[in-house]
Amino acid sequence: MELFIQFSYLAAAVLLIMGLRMLGSPKTAPRGNIIAAIGMLVAIVATLLMKQVVSYTVIIAGVVVGSAIGGLLATRIQMTAMPQMVALLNGFGGGASTLVASAELLNYARRGESPEGIVPTAIVLGALIGGLTFTGSLIAFAKLQELMRGAPLVYPGQRVVNALLGALTVGLGIAVVLDPANLPIYGGLIAISLLMGVLLVIPIGGADMPVVISLLNSYSGLAACATGFVLGNSGLVISGSLVGASGLILTKIMCDAMNRSLTNVLFGAFGAVDESAMAAGGTDDRVAKGYTPEDAAVIFSNSRSCIVVPGYGMAVAQAQHAVRELSDVLNDKGISVKFAIHPVAGRMPGHMNVLLAEADVPYDNLVEMDDINPEFPETDVALVIGANDVVNPDARTDKGSPIYGMPILDVDRARHVFVIKRSMNPGFAGVQNPLFFNDNTMMIFGDAKGTVLALVDAVKELV
Ligand code: NAP
Repeated sequence: MELFIQFSYLAAAVLLIMGLRMLGSPKTAPRGNIIAAIGMLVAIVATLLMKQVVSYTVIIAGVVVGSAIGGLLATRIQMTAMPQMVALLNGFGGGASTLVASAELLNYARRGESPEGIVPTAIVLGALIGGLTFTGSLIAFAKLQELMRGAPLVYPGQRVVNALLGALTVGLGIAVVLDPANLPIYGGLIAISLLMGVLLVIPIGGADMPVVISLLNSYSGLAACATGFVLGNSGLVISGSLVGASGLILTKIMCDAMNRSLTNVLFGAFGAVDESAMAAGGTDDRVAKGYTPEDAAVIFSNSRSCIVVPGYGMAVAQAQHAVRELSDVLNDKGISVKFAIHPVAGRMPGHMNVLLAEADVPYDNLVEMDDINPEFPETDVALVIGANDVVNPDARTDKGSPIYGMPILDVDRARHVFVIKRSMNPGFAGVQNPLFFNDNTMMIFGDAKGTVLALVDAVKELV
């Protein structure tokens, strides 16, 4: 049986890796999700066959309650609320690791034994990383769900406090490794790890939260991996490492796409009210031109090609179906339509891909940034819908801008640029966008959904 269980863990690991690989493309992602879920099922069934399982009653009760809550949440959740759901799941994963590591330590104490070898270190790492993932994820959830203020919460001496707590945590961790039977010190370690989770996440701004959630996701994997060493369970070690590594890779991809270092995301308090940032990329007293959907339709009537650039505002307005309708109408009039996807448009990786897929926009029409950028100079109309930072030319030219160096979509190089948004307010980075004042840019002010629908009507009538 032991050999069968180990073989099942190996099969589960292969399925999880295949699933992860397939998540890399929108076309294969749904199948990848199912394959990874099957891998997890194989691992769970193999674990249930272990001889250490003495009673199935509690396990079955847990599976029933957990599956009911998980199933309900997954079907009810809005796409825009996905980051906070992932935050909750990470948090519970971290909390579970802390509980398992603690239960194992208590088991040793009950038997009058002390863990040896790598086990005490694994207990400390599982409990510590799991604890801070738990509270950190709950704070991330509360911020995104607007249960607490989303802006960075900073106070004087914050870094010193965090550094001191970090040093204390390391000290307590070493003390537990040296004397695992000392339960009060272990209790202190858990308390500090829970506090660390709160203090590390409160200085981070709302829209940086996806990066933090991805990092906490990685932490929850590392905590599970450490717990795998505590239990001597290779399945948990493998799946924990996969989550840990993939979370770190995703975190790096997001940071690179925003041209920010992880340190800057974690300690930069991005999004705190910053007057100098608002001033950066000033407008030179230029005035943006306001157009109506009817005016815009006239320009479309003389166009052959259009690139749509969706952003956070399209997601907020849930305008994806209206955008699809516009694309169909333009196609009917002989105008080619492509969608330009910036890696960090919206508030989570793949945000735009998922929304447009929901509206049945063909995958082949979604073009990644590097592939679409050379096409803008040859394009008649770039239609920016609720995007701002990801089309800000200052990122290319203004060294003083907080987004300097972030790769952007070169919409300003198209012949005509329409920007649909409600006002001249800045986007997540809090900086003004000179694109709005360019000679070839026309603003169409309004909610993304209503405005796109008005544009559909105008195009239908005129073109
Ligand atoms: P953005 O820069 O945040 O701008 C969104 C724009 O949408 C705003 O200027 C807003 O202007 C407009 N808007 C909001 N609600 C609207 C509505 N109902 N109808 C029409 N417009 C609406 O968005 P982005 O260009 O997509 O850039 C994403 C930002 O998030 C980047 O700075 C990126 O670094 C950051 N970020 C992304 C991720 C990720 O994984 N995707 C992760 C972390 C951070 P009005 O208020 O005037 O309407």
